[in-house]
Amino acid sequence: DTIGENLERSAARFPDREVLVDVSTGRRWTYAEFDADVNRLALGLIDRGLAKGDRVGIWSPNCAEWMLVQYATAKAGLILVNINPAYTARELAYIAGQSGLSLLISAIAHKDSDYRAMAREAGLTGVVHIGDAAFDRLLERGATAEPAALTDRMAALSCDDPINIQYTSGTTGSPKGATLSHHNILNNGYFVTELAGYTEHDRICVPVPLYHCFGMVIGNLGATSHGACVVLPSPSFDPATVLRAVQDQRCTSLYGVPTMFIAELNHSGFAAFDLTSLRTGIVAGSPCPVEVMKRVISEMNMREVAICYGMTETSPVSAMTRWDDDLTRRTETVGRVMPHVEVKIVDPATDLTTPRGQTGELCVRGYSVMLGYWDQPGETAEAVDAARWMHTGDLATMDDDGYLGIVGRIKDMVIRGGENVYPREIEEFLHTHPDVADVQVIGVPDERYGEELMAWIVMRPGTAPLTAERVREYCGGRLAHYKIPRYVHVVDTFPMTVTGKIRKVEMREEARRMLG
Ligand code: ATP
Ligand code: MG
Repeated sequence: DTIGENLERSAARFPDREVLVDVSTGRRWTYAEFDADVNRLALGLIDRGLAKGDRVGIWSPNCAEWMLVQYATAKAGLILVNINPAYTARELAYIAGQSGLSLLISAIAHKDSDYRAMAREAGLTGVVHIGDAAFDRLLERGATAEPAALTDRMAALSCDDPINIQYTSGTTGSPKGATLSHHNILNNGYFVTELAGYTEHDRICVPVPLYHCFGMVIGNLGATSHGACVVLPSPSFDPATVLRAVQDQRCTSLYGVPTMFIAELNHSGFAAFDLTSLRTGIVAGSPCPVEVMKRVISEMNMREVAICYGMTETSPVSAMTRWDDDLTRRTETVGRVMPHVEVKIVDPATDLTTPRGQTGELCVRGYSVMLGYWDQPGETAEAVDAARWMHTGDLATMDDDGYLGIVGRIKDMVIRGGENVYPREIEEFLHTHPDVADVQVIGVPDERYGEELMAWIVMRPGTAPLTAERVREYCGGRLAHYKIPRYVHVVDTFPMTVTGKIRKVEMREEARRMLG
């Protein structure tokens, strides 16, 4: 199936079930209504002269139109280019040029972002703003166009056609445009929600950005391949709005990156929300502290919650926990490999497979590996080798039963006095301190040891800031001496990407400035 055919199948099976609720505007669609609007928009795009394979950008915080555009471009055989809503005019101009956009569909404005002014500043021609007369004209055009134009277009598509360029989060450097096919992302979305047991009765609250694979693949495609409903709480993340949306829309599932769940659990009004409708959900995107997973299960009622591990380049999910795994594995590992995906763990220096149980770089192969980075053959060859193994840049281990543990990113590993230190382990340990709401550990340059450890800590409300000395006392006897952070920095938040990932690159730069 192509993405368009898959939506039509669900629309035929579940015409009257809800597919989309946009909570902030109160709009909602059934599958039949949604598919009809998607057709109008797809026809409008074809009628505007867009040919198969043309790139269409979407630049907007979460809204219903985002999802309409996603399916309309897929039906019209256009390549959707997801653009980060936090981008400035300069970054937009780069992506537009790099991907060769024919059309940009953009929000008008949100909070401090004036998208209309920035699109003008970026010098883009061919911009249609959501909520503007031009967007309505596209739909009107589609309503009067000859429907055969769409049937013919859809008949000319193959599941292996590129359909989407998703720029990576830019956590470790500048974002690269992973180019993905219908086959890549439709199957991945399907398998994740299939393994987690979703049906047409599920209502999935999606506060993660749609421009990122978590939202658009595991959220939208995962939901529509099972007749489930996507609930969008608000254009950008706000913990109370998410909790209210879950309560009012009776959501059965909640998605988020760990920082979102931490913000929801620590919200002062948390206890007042009725979350009894929740059964499951997905935590993904970065390592989730075990303590947080336990609270998600017990305090949010998400008994069947899954952890997914993946990356944009692999459509995204390569491993996930299953609801019937034991509790330890559901909180401490990222589960087992996905169907039709192979993994191996190699020594990054030699590329040879490491013995079971040892740490090495995780490599992934299968249907889910991207076609390549858009127009970056050199970068593609560095990431995907000749045998089609995607080198993830993540350090992992696998136990005898096939459960994978993510140790951290190769780029985040700290070498202190010759010892490899994985910040994740120290972060996990500091999360057990009752006053710590969140913590991140980085390496900073040190003359004596090469690198030293620094912990950035967000305190729980009403607690006194922790000092390096108190942290040392807490760790003493429970962490090897070389794993004890030498520096402690108390902060309100961490530098973050819009996808809610912590930018350790930026933390390291700031730490270097602080230490002079
Ligand atoms: P960039 O590649 O631009 O630096 P990025 O790697 O953060 O950014 P994404 O593709 O959004 O871009 O994220 C994939 C990465 O997120 C993985 O390589 C891994 O490091 C991390 N990750 C995702 N899920 C998990 C998880 N469940 N546990 C630990 N880490 C995870
Ligand atoms: Mg990456």
